[in-house]
Amino acid sequence: MIAKLKVFNSLTRQKEIFEPLSPPHVGMYVCGPTVYSDVHLGNVRTFLSFDTINRYLRFLGYKVRYVRNITDVGHLLDSGEDRISKKAKLDNLEPMEIVQKYANDFHEVMATFNALTPDIEPSATGHMLEQMEMIKAMLKNGLAYESNGSVYFDVNKYNESHPYGILSGRKVEDLLAQTRNLDGGDDKKSQLDFALWKKAAPEHIMRWDTEWSDGFPGWHLECSAMSTKYLGEDFDIHGGGMDLKFPHHECEIAQNMGTTGHGGAKYWLHTNMLTVNGQKMSKSVGNSFLPRELMSGEHELLDRGYSPMTIRFFMMQSHYASTLDFSNDALESARKGFVKLSNALRLITALDWPENVEANTDEKQVQQINTFCDNCHHAMNDDFNTALTIAHLFNIVKKINSIHTRQLNLEAIGQETFIRMKETFIGFTEEVLGLKYESEIDGESLIQIILNEYREAKEQRNFEKVDELRSRLKEQGVIVKDMKDRVDWAFDE
Ligand code: AMP
Ligand code: ZN
Repeated sequence: MIAKLKVFNSLTRQKEIFEPLSPPHVGMYVCGPTVYSDVHLGNVRTFLSFDTINRYLRFLGYKVRYVRNITDVGHLLDSGEDRISKKAKLDNLEPMEIVQKYANDFHEVMATFNALTPDIEPSATGHMLEQMEMIKAMLKNGLAYESNGSVYFDVNKYNESHPYGILSGRKVEDLLAQTRNLDGGDDKKSQLDFALWKKAAPEHIMRWDTEWSDGFPGWHLECSAMSTKYLGEDFDIHGGGMDLKFPHHECEIAQNMGTTGHGGAKYWLHTNMLTVNGQKMSKSVGNSFLPRELMSGEHELLDRGYSPMTIRFFMMQSHYASTLDFSNDALESARKGFVKLSNALRLITALDWPENVEANTDEKQVQQINTFCDNCHHAMNDDFNTALTIAHLFNIVKKINSIHTRQLNLEAIGQETFIRMKETFIGFTEEVLGLKYESEIDGESLIQIILNEYREAKEQRNFEKVDELRSRLKEQGVIVKDMKDRVDWAFDE
């Protein structure tokens, strides 16, 4: 159907022609957030990149099952504490109150940025049985061992038959050399072994009673269990931020192999980091921006607030696999670019092919416009290159503006090309890039401007104008209220 959609596969480190396992169905799993704090703009970048990939696959006609999980247990801090438990203790709340609060916040943020919702959003705590089943299978297959109430994945054993490190290009010997000097201090056979099940310390509040211990699952396990449950032992795409490649995704592959004999995803896609002055945006570094700070402009690095669509446009201006540096200047230039795109979107949306227009086509124009439209497809087909797609959309913007100023006549384009241009421009901007038209105008300020005119007309006793302004505002649902000492307004009920 779609011959040449290419994706860069982190597993093979090559651009490959994308071939779904059972077209037209595509299974896509993306690691979701750990819901213990507000999402920052870096997280948003990753999720919007996969939103755009999901959107484009659907735009091409694939039937996508998009699964994005919620991590609500097992993602530990370096100190060994569970992120959610720690926050729950700090705020004196139930862990599930923390989970709900930040999951709600995450959903709200994603909706603000016009992200489509996933088809399934499973949580780790909702899939304890599936995780336990996987642990049992790995124990049975001799790739896991129990130690003092915890269960660990045996990396050295696994590595005898499967290359551990295949995704990130690491070798077990090198990894061992790097970790040899670290203090053991636990029950693992090797420093490389990772927990499938952890025995809970007495103060640990999130715990489940199992045959191994009263404990909790290791973080990597949930994604293996939930992707297999909803997408099968083999599925198409697995995504996440670059920082998840190792160890999280590497461990996922090992767990899937160790359980089912299949590695899970065929294509592994990783987004690159949003940086601030070249440094990864991260909560722990303290350089993170919250979406609401960006929109209100209440941040020392910002001169003003930026709208959600400007921010989305800013992110789409770079390829998902490149780093993107965040700065006030970059956002300001994105704002200007997005205003241009928005203006063109408004013009072309309102413009239909007029009746009784005879085409008198200029083949050069027709060819140019068709090439611009083809290029939008080529750019997205080349590993979802949104940056290049936007450049091609701006070529179409020029044509739309020329039509608007009558430098280019519709006759010269012809109806067929006009419709293709309109559909391509709106389709790629709104459906693929997820950019909605945003009005720069504040409606209430406009009402005040008209009310000033109304007051003036009243003072001059120009009642014809007073009546006209009153009825024009009413048409827009605004009622003028003549008070004793002033003129006010209200929405028509
Ligand atoms: P977390 O909740 O920390 O697991 O992160 C959720 C997602 O955001 C993961 O896919 C991370 O890789 C991604 N992420 C974290 N920081 C950044 C960043 N600065 N830029 C882009 N993606 C990020
Ligand atoms: Zn994951």
